[in-house]
Amino acid sequence: MSRSELVSLDPCTGDVVWEGHAGDVDAAVGAARRAAPGWARTPLDARITVARGFQAVVKERAEDFARLIARETGKPLWETRTEVASVAAKVDISVSAQAERAGQRSGDVSGVRQALRHKPHGVLAVLGPYNFPAHLPNGHIVPALLAGNTLVFKPSEQTPAVAAFMADCWHAARLPDGVLNVVQGAGDTGKALAGHADIDGLLFTGSATTGAALARQFADTPHKILALEMGGNNPLIAWDIAPDRLDAAAALIVQSGYLSAGQRCTCARRLIVRDGDTALLDRVAKLLDRIIVGAPFDDPQPFMGPVIDNRAADGLQAGFAALIGRGAEVIRPLARRNMDRPFLTPGLIDVTRVEHRPDSELFGPLVQVIRVADFDAALAEANATRFGLAAGLIGGDAALYERFWSETRAGVVNWNRPTNGAASNAPFGGVGVSGNHRPSAYYAADYCAFPVASLEADAADGTIATGLR
Ligand code: NAD
Repeated sequence: MSRSELVSLDPCTGDVVWEGHAGDVDAAVGAARRAAPGWARTPLDARITVARGFQAVVKERAEDFARLIARETGKPLWETRTEVASVAAKVDISVSAQAERAGQRSGDVSGVRQALRHKPHGVLAVLGPYNFPAHLPNGHIVPALLAGNTLVFKPSEQTPAVAAFMADCWHAARLPDGVLNVVQGAGDTGKALAGHADIDGLLFTGSATTGAALARQFADTPHKILALEMGGNNPLIAWDIAPDRLDAAAALIVQSGYLSAGQRCTCARRLIVRDGDTALLDRVAKLLDRIIVGAPFDDPQPFMGPVIDNRAADGLQAGFAALIGRGAEVIRPLARRNMDRPFLTPGLIDVTRVEHRPDSELFGPLVQVIRVADFDAALAEANATRFGLAAGLIGGDAALYERFWSETRAGVVNWNRPTNGAASNAPFGGVGVSGNHRPSAYYAADYCAFPVASLEADAADGTIATGLR
């Protein structure tokens, strides 16, 4: 992408939301490096005050912020309002997490004074995705700043305006110059930033493909922190659902699969059901028929908007067609009412007969149904993935859930709740190719600072008790 060709479009209308130039990585890293010693020396209380200032600005500007996210991503306004609320709430959560997980402790053990303190890494890069263009980078930015790092933030090229807005909220809160630097740009800019010799680490949220490329780029610098939050091919088992719970189960399945038009890393991609369990699938299909797909400011509000752009919609439709070509049966099509715009209807497809199903993340409103004979087969299907972000069970009893919990490999395991429901005061991350064991959210404090253990005395105090002539 050339320096003058950075443009973000409103997915619903094709109107330009933001245009500008790709940023200067060297200049941004240089500014962050110059600001690093001062910010690291700033007392924690003062850093918290700035973060609370940011929180206040976000609350003041909440409606403009939510409208901008809606325009740049196409997500419904009701949903982007919740994203902005999460951005503001992140400050309190991060202050608690920092105190609990990266705070200072001291004490005496057998008369020896010990201390545990944490230090910032220095200059960290943050790379963000488009689907939660504010909340997810903010989940790295707030804890990293509280810990005393300075940052270079490269947002998704699809959501530059949201990033610029969020950075402006920090500046309005009087974050010192150079502490948070936004560099706009696409993958090439991200790659240049990741490979910059003068960063001390990188905090990433995005696809498994990009995450793996970053891990390769960092192979020769194991001393730099690399936190990778990536995608999933998330299973949802629906099992032994009482007749009076079928509607609720269908609602949970629809929330799991189709919130944010399926553009959540934790969305259910594979629905595993007992063969012959048609009552549940009928309810899900009927609920899908009622879903309103529309633009962010429509009245009544849609359940979901378009996917991010035409390229994403084309890719999803190609993935859907490929499954049909291999023997899948359409329950509800992934249809596009206007090929010029990326609005897709929620698709449901039975892939039971497809052999060697691709274990890839189809990041949109499409759920693949797999019918199995028994719960052993359901568990085997759930775990038949190289990812390990989210997994869910709907139905069953406590014993079945216990079995599901202990035998599934994922970082988020839910029961009778949507797969994409996550508590903000909990860690968030996956295993397999969904992450590199550096969970974010409440545990972000862990990767934003390194621990320093000290034994201390006010004056030199030592004797050699054994082994002297
Ligand atoms: P993406 O990987 O395409 O892009 C993420 C960021 O990386 C962008 O800023 C992009 O410009 C940059 N980038 C792309 N190629 C790069 C390269 N070679 N080197 C350096 N940077 C590069 O992801 P996306 O499409 O924006 O977001 C959707 C993906 O993110 C999905 O896979 C989704 O599951 C995942 N996601 C994960 C989480 C999580 O917390 N685990 C949350 C949200 C989204």
